Amino acid sequence: MLKGVGVSPGISIGKAFLLDRRKIKVEKFTIAAEMVEGEVARFMDALQKSREQLLQVKEKLTQDLGGDQAHAHIVDVHILILEDEMLVNEAIKIVREERVNAEWALRKVLTRFANIFDQIEDPYMKERKSDIEHVGQRILHNLAGEKMRSLDGFDEDVIVVAHDLSPADTAQMHQSRVIGFATDLGARTSHTAIMARSLEIPAVVGLENICTFVKTGDPIIIDGTDGVVIVKPTPEEFREYLEKQRRYKYVIQELLKYSDQPAETLDGYKIDIMANIEFLDEIPHVLSRGAEGIGLYRTEFFYMNSPKLPTEEDHFRVYKRLAEQVSPRQATIRTLDLGGDKIESTLHVADEPNPVLGLRAIRFSLKHSDLFRLQLRAILRASAYGKLRIMYPMISGIEELRQANLILAEVKDELSSQGIYFDEDIPVGVMIEIPSASITADLLAKEADFFSIGTNDLIQYSIAIDRGNEHVAYLYEPLHPAVLRLIKRTVEAGHAEGIPVGMCGEMAGDPLSTLILLGLELDEFSMNTASIPIIKQIIRSVRLEQATELAYKALSFSTAKEIEEFVRREMSAKFPEFF
Ligand code: PEP
Ligand code: MG
Repeated sequence: MLKGVGVSPGISIGKAFLLDRRKIKVEKFTIAAEMVEGEVARFMDALQKSREQLLQVKEKLTQDLGGDQAHAHIVDVHILILEDEMLVNEAIKIVREERVNAEWALRKVLTRFANIFDQIEDPYMKERKSDIEHVGQRILHNLAGEKMRSLDGFDEDVIVVAHDLSPADTAQMHQSRVIGFATDLGARTSHTAIMARSLEIPAVVGLENICTFVKTGDPIIIDGTDGVVIVKPTPEEFREYLEKQRRYKYVIQELLKYSDQPAETLDGYKIDIMANIEFLDEIPHVLSRGAEGIGLYRTEFFYMNSPKLPTEEDHFRVYKRLAEQVSPRQATIRTLDLGGDKIESTLHVADEPNPVLGLRAIRFSLKHSDLFRLQLRAILRASAYGKLRIMYPMISGIEELRQANLILAEVKDELSSQGIYFDEDIPVGVMIEIPSASITADLLAKEADFFSIGTNDLIQYSIAIDRGNEHVAYLYEPLHPAVLRLIKRTVEAGHAEGIPVGMCGEMAGDPLSTLILLGLELDEFSMNTASIPIIKQIIRSVRLEQATELAYKALSFSTAKEIEEFVRREMSAKFPEFF
């Protein structure tokens, strides 16, 4: 039994799949003259197998993702590389002339290609180098008679065990047969964890060395609620967890009965409950779980796993679909927030020593204003088809807000002069996720239409702990007095100027914090879908004054630990079924 950080609740019982990302080690063999043609045939065979696998992946992606073609395109790129004459002919030539094994010949060609790509300045072309390496690995796996490990091609349910998973890996799990995962690295608000919650698959991270205990095929249990993983469970453990899984499903089922009720306190104070999404095909599901709109659409996922930069039309199509599908409810589009842990993308955000403090989010957009304009144009055009809001990430002060709004005004003028219709009054909001923004919230509130508090980053920046680092995860405390004070002052500053204040960080979906946030009188909570029913149920069971009292009492303590103990006590007394 291993203990880690439970980042996505629920219990999964199944077979482990150990994702081993170590590259195949290639050794050199000389082969006898009469074996040469056999070696060439073996190589051609591996190419053919690789091609068939890629075509299968492509077919599956096209079926699963419907209109979302970006993921399927990357597979096309890989097929093209596989068919590249230079690559194929060169490798065969090396086998024949040097009488070496196909693996060695292929590795030689791949290295040559990599060197050529290293000379290229263009970031898009540079990125293609990793595609070539990826295809090369696939061929090598096939030469070795092994299946290439990707996370979307399973034909049975699996629980993935890996050293680490990138947000791009997790995106592949979408619509796949992965029913849970466990990793050595990671923490609660890393994007991989957030994705797990959105996909509603149980996950435990920060296990430090689970990879060394697990083999593919081992029976395994993931308890994402308590952060426990059991490898090769005993029959008693198996029974115990089966029962726990049944109870969990029952509670969720019960909660779902109330999902379409408003989140209104017994005395009529109403909170808008919105959902955070990364993919458009989540929309029907989140609406059926009771979301009253989309409070955060993370557009950067659109760039991840995508072989080319999306065009204005690509953006427009997606945002139009979002507006239409969510209509008549509101959808909030956050402008590009690449950077931090979300760096795997076509944009190839520069390697920086401190990416989290670097050129990310709105800073990146203001620097690359052509990309920003293109995104804003597409959002504005789509605003004619439903109720959209624009939200800027990582605003650190009023100047950035003004610069962004200046660009927005120019884009609006451009569209007007072209006679293109859009919502002239589209609300423009600011994410409050840097302490300096919270501290100057009174100034920002004068020039923004709404605030949305991004606690994932706000906590990271105010307590100075990397949100993805398991070694300092113990310091990541949403109920730290500093965090609560920053939230309180942000709400007060927003309300003083008459603008709504919401929260779209993970804290908004954490039942432990619900009454505090309610007591601080936030107007909107935006969260992962799975949390919606429970949060609604908590809000519906209290009077506002009870929440206010609890929030102010919490603020009177001096340490996060005292606050947490107090809140846990209160919440488990009020809601024994949830805590
Ligand atoms: C946040 O920082 O709280 C947030 C919602 O944005 P992200 O998690 O995408 O950084
Ligand atoms: Mg953020």
